[in-house]
Amino acid sequence: MRIGQANSYPVSGIQENLKIIFPDTECAIITETFPIPEEAFNKARKQSRSDIILSKIHNYAKKEKTLDKVLGIIDADIFVPELNFVFGEAECPGKAALVSLWRLRPEFYGKPPNTELLEERSTKEAVHELGHAVGLRHCSNPFCVMFFSNSIFETDRKKSLFCNKCHAKAEKIIKMQEVKSFERQV
Ligand SMILES: [Zn+2]
Ligand SMILES: [Zn+2]
Repeated sequence: MRIGQANSYPVSGIQENLKIIFPDTECAIITETFPIPEEAFNKARKQSRSDIILSKIHNYAKKEKTLDKVLGIIDADIFVPELNFVFGEAECPGKAALVSLWRLRPEFYGKPPNTELLEERSTKEAVHELGHAVGLRHCSNPFCVMFFSNSIFETDRKKSLFCNKCHAKAEKIIKMQEVKSFERQV
């Protein structure tokens, strides 16, 4: 799923990579786009509240009973009140996840555009947020995809895969399946 209007999303690249990382899961692109909710935009910060956008994805995901997880991809700068910015946010555990391409683009850091790098970075952040949606929390291994990226340096350093510990945890959670409540993780 995409939110808002924009072009040249690396969506199919993310999808291809997600299929490799989650081999037992069917991974389809929803072509629907949604405008960024007006109430999410903070004029002073020129950023949008990711929790407000995430609740829209939550509502969409709730209606779509056949979908297990819904990942929204947005091309806008997003934040949560306690942080300057976030690369994404997800329910932990839950059905809804969100990733922003805004600070994953090399151009944001004054570098030339690089589609391959953008695809790699957005895959990492997509897997990270989907990992939260599965029920995983942050991992202290800086190379694990569940490591919390506070900067693009940390995103570039980590891999797009779960470490052995997180992988085992995810398998265990998926086996238990029961989702009773969730909280949000960035
Ligand atoms: Zn890990
Ligand atoms: Zn996180």
